[in-house]
Amino acid sequence: MNVKKIILASLLLTILLLPIGEASAAMLASDSHAINCPVGQVCTPAVQAVNPEQSEPEKVIYLTFDDGPDPNWTPQILDILDRYHAGATFYMIGRNAVTFPEVVRQVAEHKQRIAIHGYNHMDMSNLDYQTFYLEVNDSESVILAALQSEPNLASQYVRCLRPPYGLTSDYLYQTAHQMGYEISMWNIDTNDWQQPDPDDMLADILKILEPGKVILMHDGGKEREKTLLGLQLILHELIMQGYRIEPLCNY
Ligand SMILES: [Zn+2]
Repeated sequence: MNVKKIILASLLLTILLLPIGEASAAMLASDSHAINCPVGQVCTPAVQAVNPEQSEPEKVIYLTFDDGPDPNWTPQILDILDRYHAGATFYMIGRNAVTFPEVVRQVAEHKQRIAIHGYNHMDMSNLDYQTFYLEVNDSESVILAALQSEPNLASQYVRCLRPPYGLTSDYLYQTAHQMGYEISMWNIDTNDWQQPDPDDMLADILKILEPGKVILMHDGGKEREKTLLGLQLILHELIMQGYRIEPLCNY
């Protein structure tokens, strides 16, 4: 007799020796769902309902860069994004796009997304309509002009606006929507413009990291060496944690 048969035989013997009530209790005690089953009745164990809302959220993080294009920093960021197969949206300042149209083109050629951050990088929350219109429309015009050399590149442009300094108002939202634009904010600030230690930048992000969050970094302005280093640490860690890194705004 093999081990399985011995176990089965002893189990059967135990059940036969027990009074009927105790046998039922012993069998039912192994199933917490059937604990209230009346003695002497056959009860099926309850099936645990699967709640779709309890399924894991999609592991996506959206990456965004403000203040470019910049002939030094933007191309280096594009190379890093390529290396990690990461997508991002670049919110460009219109006057920088006029000065560096070849960098605007490069961003589109790398299949990254382009949106606007105002023409003059001013507080747009309280502008009169005409000035607001020019900030948006002139930014769009110079970016599309930079992309017109190849017909496919213009499709990388999306009608989204990131207000400089994150300053918004009801008026700003309404006016942007009237012009067919969505407002793009963020919820993870790397503070890379303060040039923190890249390890600290990563540690701060990890404290508040959750699927669906939007990371803010900068590819223009001042010295961005810390941004390059921090970006590589962040991308490495996100990928190790199973995240996809995608551009924000499909509008
Ligand atoms: Zn900015």
